[in-house]
This record gives sequence, structure tokens and C-alpha cells, in this order.
Amino acid sequence: MPLPDSITALIAALAKLPGIGPRSAERLALHIVQNEPDAVKQLAAAILLAREKIKFCDICGSLTETSPCSICSDPRREASLICLVERAVDILSIEKAGSFRGKFHVLGGKISPLDGVEPDDLRIAELEKRLAREPIREIIIALATDVEGDATSSYLAKRLARSGLKISRIAYGLPAGSGLEYADELTLSRALEGRREMN
Ligand SMILES: [Zn+2]
Repeated sequence: MPLPDSITALIAALAKLPGIGPRSAERLALHIVQNEPDAVKQLAAAILLAREKIKFCDICGSLTETSPCSICSDPRREASLICLVERAVDILSIEKAGSFRGKFHVLGGKISPLDGVEPDDLRIAELEKRLAREPIREIIIALATDVEGDATSSYLAKRLARSGLKISRIAYGLPAGSGLEYADELTLSRALEGRREMN
């Protein structure tokens, strides 16, 4: 017996989510359609509300309900220190590690000519604007340790170089070829401490 169309459509929609394979999508869909209607309404409302409220911080590019975000507007964070990450979710990984006291900047990707990602597609100009108006003295590049991460870091170290600005990159202890989300909190803290200068 084929599944009813509405379940098939729900499975297809869930399967588009990251990390959800066809089997998980089917399990979730079958759970949802047999759940209490109120619980399903709450889930749907939470998804819609979160999507409606969340935007990107105009300064750092993080996910936030208010722009500037709570980190950009926190006077206790060191304004001289910026941690450059690939994606907004990487900020969560570093914040969980708990040892970083500076601010962030989300690049929005890595330079990858094969995938059609050029420097202009990333938030580099936004970072240059921040360099002009904020008292930034050090940028810690916290990109993944893969080929694109290496190439992007070298490009940024050259393009952002100016006197009085230290540019370093975390490397120590991060698994080669992987993103920040796979590193545990202690490894991330050590990777930040063990950054090496690029200029
Ligand atoms: Zn921000």
C-alpha cells in the first residue's frame, strides 16, 4: 500500500533538512502524523516564529533577533579581537568552548573557484569596513583546516594586512579537513590559544 500523498510530501520536505536521510525523514513524518494535533501545532508555530524572528547581525553576520547582536553590543567583549568564522553556527561552537572573549565576524563561506565562490561572495568588504571604524588589533582566522580553508586564510592574510594588525590562524589540534562543529570544546579552546601568526 503506497503512503498517502500528504505523508509523502511531508517526508520529501523533511528529507531536505541537513542531516536527515530518507529513513529519518520517514520516521519523523510518521511520528508527526500520529502525534497529538496540539503538539504538532506547537512544533509548526515554533518553526515559523523562529524563522520570522531570526535575522543576520548587520555587523558580524551572526544569527540574532536584534541587530546588532548581543555579542556585538556587549561592552565587556574585547573590541580589539575578532574571530573570523565561516558560518554563523561556528560562533555557537566557539561560545560553547567558553574561553574566547573577543567579537566575531562571519565570512559566509570559503573561497572555492570550483564551486563558483569568489572573494566578492564573502563578507570581506564588511570586515574591511569594521577594520576602518572599530579598534581591531587582532584577527583570529578560525576556518576549517581543509584546502579551501587554507587558501582563504592566505588570501585574507594578504588582503587584510595593515600595520598594527595581527592576523593569526587557529590550527593546533583541529582535525585536518574538518569544520569547527566536529571539534570538542577543549580542542577548540586549545586551538584558539595555539593560534599562529600569519604576518
Ligand atoms: Zn553581531
